[in-house]
Amino acid sequence: MSSILIFCRDCGKQVPSSETRDGLCLDCRVRRSVADLRSEHARLWRKRERYRSQNANVEQIGRQIARVEDRMGQRIKVMVSNDRQATDLLRRELEAARGQRYTIKGV
Ligand SMILES: [Zn+2]
Repeated sequence: MSSILIFCRDCGKQVPSSETRDGLCLDCRVRRSVADLRSEHARLWRKRERYRSQNANVEQIGRQIARVEDRMGQRIKVMVSNDRQATDLLRRELEAARGQRYTIKGV
């Protein structure tokens, strides 16, 4: 294999040059492309927890969260042609987004 390895300028990981765009590895490109949706996701998630603690109806917020997750999936699909890889990346982004609520809770 004659593929050149370069360092991703964001995470510093060594990746084949064929998998990078603008010096960024695929993981970082995906992360950046859904960054705004992830903060939207976190905002809705916090809102839902707040509503739930007040015994309010959270059904609508649940639908909004699902819609944001759909949009994340669509963006990732555009960037990643391989279906299985796109699914893996989406799952990781969603896990990160859902896990975020623990670190920002109480802010
Ligand atoms: Zn990277």
